[in-house]
Amino acid sequence: MTISTQSIPLFLKAIKDEIAANADEVTALDQAIGDGDHVTNLLRGLEALEKQSAELSEMDWSAAFMKIGMTLMSTMGGASGSLYGSLFVAMGKEAQKTDMDTAGFADIFDAGVTAVKTRGKADLGEKTMLDTLIPASRALNEKADIAASDLLDAVKKAAYEGMLSTKDMLATKGRASFLGERARGHIDAGARTSQLMICAIADVIEKS
Ligand code: ADP
Ligand code: MG
Repeated sequence: MTISTQSIPLFLKAIKDEIAANADEVTALDQAIGDGDHVTNLLRGLEALEKQSAELSEMDWSAAFMKIGMTLMSTMGGASGSLYGSLFVAMGKEAQKTDMDTAGFADIFDAGVTAVKTRGKADLGEKTMLDTLIPASRALNEKADIAASDLLDAVKKAAYEGMLSTKDMLATKGRASFLGERARGHIDAGARTSQLMICAIADVIEKS
C-alpha cells in the first residue's frame, strides 16, 4: 500500500471535520485538567494547513511532512504546538531516507513519536498524547506485514485503548501535573485529539 501526497487535502479535511465534531468534548477535557485551549490551538493549526493543502499535495512526503510540522509549530501555540510540530518535522526527516510503503511509514511514524518523547521529556504512562501515539506506533510496527485493513483496525484499536488508558493515570508532565490526584478520572485532551486524528486518517485510507 502506497499513498500519494495528492491525498493530503482529503486527510486534512477528514481530520479537521473530526476534531471540529468533537471540539466541545475535547475542550471540556482540557478544562477539567488543563486550561481549555487545546482544541482552539489545534483548529488554528489545521486551518493554516488547509490553506496550504494544494501546495502540500504537490510536494514529496518528506517536504510535505516538514512543512506541516513547521506550520503547526508557528501557528498552534501551547505545549501541543511544539509537540505535534516536532512529530511531523521528524517524520519529514525520516521520510528523506525511507519509502512511504507500509513498513516505511511505520519507521517514519516511529521517528516522529520518538521526537515527541524527546521534546516532551515524556514517555508512556504520563497521561499525555504519547499514551495514544506510542501504542499506535507499536501496533503499526508490529503488524506492518499484515493485510492493510487488519493493520488499520489494529492501529485504531491501539490508539483508542491508549487514549482511554489516560483516564485513570496521574499526570507527571504538562499542566495536568499540577493537579496531582485530582487529574485522575479525566482523559487527557492531547491523547484524545491524537486518537481522533489517527482514526480519521485510517478511515480515509480504509474507504479509498
Ligand atoms: P497547553 O498545555 O500549553 O495549554 P495544549 O492545551 O494545546 O497546550 O496541549 C495540552 C496537551 O499537550 C496535553 O493534553 C498533553 O497531551 C500534551 N502535553 C503537554 N505536555 C506534554 C509533554 N511534556 N509531553 C507530551 N505531551 C504533552
Ligand atoms: Mg491547554
